[in-house]
Amino acid sequence: MRLIVQKYGGTSVGTPERICNVARRILETQRKGCRVVAVISAMAGVTDQLVKLAKAVSPQPTERELDILLATGEGAASALTAMAVNALGGTAISVTGAQAGILTDHHHTKARIANISPKQIHEMLSEDYIVIVAGFQGQTPEGDMTTLGRGGSDLTAIALAGALNADACQIFTDVDGVFTCDPRVVLDAKKVSEIAYDEMLEMAGSGAKVMQSRAVEFAKKFGVEFEVRSTFTKRRGTITKEETPSMEDVVVRGISLDRHQAKLSIAGVRDEPGMAARIFSNIAAAHIIVDMIVQNASISGTTDVSFTIHEDELENARTILMPVIGQIGAKRLNTIAGVAKLSVVGIGMRSHSGVAARMFECMGKSGINIQLVSTSEIKIAVIIDEKDAERAAQLIHAEFGLARLLASPSATRPLA
Ligand code: ADP
Ligand code: ASP
Ligand code: MG
Repeated sequence: MRLIVQKYGGTSVGTPERICNVARRILETQRKGCRVVAVISAMAGVTDQLVKLAKAVSPQPTERELDILLATGEGAASALTAMAVNALGGTAISVTGAQAGILTDHHHTKARIANISPKQIHEMLSEDYIVIVAGFQGQTPEGDMTTLGRGGSDLTAIALAGALNADACQIFTDVDGVFTCDPRVVLDAKKVSEIAYDEMLEMAGSGAKVMQSRAVEFAKKFGVEFEVRSTFTKRRGTITKEETPSMEDVVVRGISLDRHQAKLSIAGVRDEPGMAARIFSNIAAAHIIVDMIVQNASISGTTDVSFTIHEDELENARTILMPVIGQIGAKRLNTIAGVAKLSVVGIGMRSHSGVAARMFECMGKSGINIQLVSTSEIKIAVIIDEKDAERAAQLIHAEFGLARLLASPSATRPLA
């Protein structure tokens, strides 16, 4: 019998009616002769609401307690889904991440999976249960609750699909699949039928929230193919898998935006070994995640170092860096919030040239200023003013001919 792991995101279980819809889909899958493990996210908005509540009682909530609180969202939604399946005549049972055998490290709120032993799930499946797993949760070896980072139910699903050696892994969400750009930003974005792990990883890592990037990393590492598709339609979605030679024919697979970034530039840094280390070790010690780093060529013995972080960390980073600037004898620190990163991704860039030139020309003609540039083998990323971000995505999307014909706009319009 085929074993299918399905994951339903927050919007998919956002109301009682939608939970019943999910229950029907799960039962349909079972009736096709499959065993089903369904990973469920918290109902839409619940995790944000819980974070807000925590901050209302404590300026810096203890992360251990935060995990216990956040895990309640997935706990509630998975129990409700099991109830809905049972009410429709099925036999479902809900389990926590710990019961599903997900063992993690101790990094509360962004724990990494260390091991999975889904013994209980195997037993329940052999007794013909539909197993409903609370997403986003794990447990330390000492038995403390952990969560897997925002969007972490994707990781629960991919990791379980790998550990259970499932025949298919389906990520159900509120859009029809992975698009050439967020369909809420570019209305004529096109659903892609397949995408390579590396492309999905770069897109997820540069703001395409449709998949958690750690989940894609896991999928690539363990070769878990997965399909992103809609909870609300029967249309086929997007398969993420190992690349095939024909995938290189597409130069640009997609465009992603990462908003709410801040740029920090340190001017007049002496061009000597150890300077960058002094700057970034202080930032790392405060657990601030640094994204893009650019160092200029040295002119008369000094250079400028720029980097980006999430704008919520800007004040913290400024406080840390001000004394460091003095210690290393740099000239000044300039900071700016309200910037965005726009990334153009495609494995075809390995064998096609001129993508950067075309992209920069398109932005230049439209008066969009590029503040920083960084590249990888399959990505070109620029930092621009956040107010230009959507327009830039739309223009570059059109420049590379990524749009679909808008004959039937309702066919892929986001639902919520
Ligand atoms: P879920 O709650 O199901 O996990 P998310 O909100 O985390 O769903 O992710 C789905 C959203 O990701 C979509 O509604 C869409 O706006 C956004 N998104 C961003 N980039 C893309 C893209 N390239 N393709 C599809 N969706 C995208
Ligand atoms: N509920 C968690 C979040 O909102 C996990 C998830 O939905 O994947 O981030
Ligand atoms: Mg998500």
